[in-house]
Amino acid sequence: MTYGPEGAVRPDIDAVRSEALGCTKCRLAEGRTQVVWADGNLDANLLFIGEGPGFHEDKHGLPFVGAAGQLLDRLLGEIGLDRSQAAIVNVVKCRPPGNRDPLPDEIEACRPYLEAQLAHMQPDVIVTLGNFATQFILDQRIGITRARGRRYDRRGATVIPTFHPAAALRGGRFGGTNPIDAIRADLQEVKKALEEAARARQGEGANAVGTEDHGEQLGLF
Ligand code: SF4
Repeated sequence: MTYGPEGAVRPDIDAVRSEALGCTKCRLAEGRTQVVWADGNLDANLLFIGEGPGFHEDKHGLPFVGAAGQLLDRLLGEIGLDRSQAAIVNVVKCRPPGNRDPLPDEIEACRPYLEAQLAHMQPDVIVTLGNFATQFILDQRIGITRARGRRYDRRGATVIPTFHPAAALRGGRFGGTNPIDAIRADLQEVKKALEEAARARQGEGANAVGTEDHGEQLGLF
């Protein structure tokens, strides 16, 4: 089954996970230790999407467990969140050999799994970490340095692209910006976007109650 961006199907995510764990649809199956499905909470309102598993992720079967993961946890903590309040996944679920970039056909082969995760979660906020996740979600060939610093509306969510923590740890400046400071600033936007989404939901709830009340009033006359 495919789970397109407009797909009305809310997948049986446990069944999709089981399918993914045995997947051999692309050459990345050959070198992996295990499929890295997700970490955190797939019922949360916030989704982080990285690129693909690295050495430590492949060994542990979880995304973002090395130094990049520790940085992400620390920066998440600064906005008062932890992994139980977000899901963390990758564009490809198996480690590319030598940590090379995933190839276009590998990303396409793995697409149904990320589409299923998106369709299941329907998150309020999606944070794309680095080029590959950003291009996947924006459906646009755009580099992260140019993409970040603004919000996008895609798939019913607010999309906030930021640097991949692993790239940030490699140091240097991206377009004159310190990448860790940039991620920190982008996570402040994430916090605001989550608060806005929560307020909007509360407003919808209040309006629904208001409509019912109004209906009752009308019914009295
Ligand atoms: S990367 Fe994705 S498509 Fe390729 S083998 Fe792993 S789970 Fe299957």
